[in-house]
Amino acid sequence: MSLAPTLSLDQATKRTWPVLILGAGPAGALAAHEIARRGVSVLLVDRSAFPRTKVCGCCLNGVALAVLAAVGLESLTTHLHAIPLHEVLLHAGRHTAQIRLPSGVALSREALDTALIQAAIHAGAEFLPGTHAIPKGVMGSETLRQIKLRQESYSGEVSTSILLDATGLTSAGSMGWPGSRVGAGTILDKDESYCPLGQIHLHCGKGGYVGIVRLEDGRLDVACAFEVQAMRLAHGPANLARRILMECGVKVPDGLAHARWRGTLPLTRVAREIAGHRLFVLGDAAGYVEPFTGEGIAWALTSALAVASLACQPWSPKLAHRWRQRQRFLRRGQIFCQGVAWLLRYPVCSKAMTLVLSRWPKLAEPIVRSLNHSRLSLSPEVIVR
Ligand SMILES: Cc1cc2nc3c(=O)[nH]c(=O)nc-3n(C[C@H](O)[C@H](O)[C@H](O)COP(=O)(O)OP(=O)(O)OC[C@H]3O[C@@H](n4cnc5c(N)ncnc54)[C@H](O)[C@@H]3O)c2cc1C
Repeated sequence: MSLAPTLSLDQATKRTWPVLILGAGPAGALAAHEIARRGVSVLLVDRSAFPRTKVCGCCLNGVALAVLAAVGLESLTTHLHAIPLHEVLLHAGRHTAQIRLPSGVALSREALDTALIQAAIHAGAEFLPGTHAIPKGVMGSETLRQIKLRQESYSGEVSTSILLDATGLTSAGSMGWPGSRVGAGTILDKDESYCPLGQIHLHCGKGGYVGIVRLEDGRLDVACAFEVQAMRLAHGPANLARRILMECGVKVPDGLAHARWRGTLPLTRVAREIAGHRLFVLGDAAGYVEPFTGEGIAWALTSALAVASLACQPWSPKLAHRWRQRQRFLRRGQIFCQGVAWLLRYPVCSKAMTLVLSRWPKLAEPIVRSLNHSRLSLSPEVIVR
């Protein structure tokens, strides 16, 4: 059953909102939760109806779990029967490295995103799904921003003091990095013989990589990053995924060829602006790198937590400056992810790395530990309550 709006578009257009958030993924939904908790009226708008699927590896790392705990939502993943993750199996060529994970869970995006929106509504946020938003800029007085909202049969304009752009990779304010890989993914029905609970399988091959994890309801989530040219030559994502799995010498899961695949825009992106007049950009909309180390949801949640205190203050240009500084601090972690993604573009590197880690898996432990550690993300430089 889909999550109902808490007000109509007509009602939304009759008010001037202190804060309006575009995009109800993890970044937008958690920001709405945090802003509503501070007693500020906030409207959360998304073009999709929820629950909805999304191309994603569906793995929350230790940082994502720490952010949820920091905002009092620590029981959310348990209630949704998220699967605790205990290891990553990295496959390249005929080598497999088995790396232990200190924390993390697998949880479908249908369940996670819907639960975060419900938590925001419970905290007092208003929610308008199935509504496409088009930012229109600043109004004459410069005290408000105006946004056009469009539904199937109706459209209108809303005004807000502060706008949060959390529209993900499709944000109008971001552009793809030349040569970047694109995302592709599907969800397969239960195949009990494949991918035991609690394991992430990452397969690297020519033209990209394929990640597979079992979700809380037994289905298999398949999430890939592919070179555009390789996908074209293979005649689509299903064929390229099958080829990479065979290169790694692993079984191809049933139903892969006939599944419904979804794609994304180029994954590595830069935002034209992180902040502007009465505008904060957060989550993937603020820039993104290829998702190999699985940190996107953690970055989205951390940026939501970090933006909330700024979005609740009376507007001053200093706030935009402070948001740029916080984002710079937050984005330090992305440099490592970008490095790994570039290294794995070369099959010889991914095979060498997998071979080394298959013999000495402990070498990966410091890196895995730091990716799952929340000290940086929840530090005072980022979170000022
Ligand atoms: C192949 C792949 C694998 C990944 N694996 C992982 C992983 O295992 N772990 C991890 O942590 N991260 C992973 N990620 C990254 C993760 O999916 C993202 O970083 C995360 O979803 C970002 O959240 P967000 O809220 O910023 O954006 P999104 O989740 O993309 O949400 C944006 C929302 O904005 C809405 N929207 C867009 N435009 C408009 C508009 N004009 N009007 C209204 N609404 C709009 C969309 O409908 C959407 O609901 C992966 C990504 C890819 C592509």
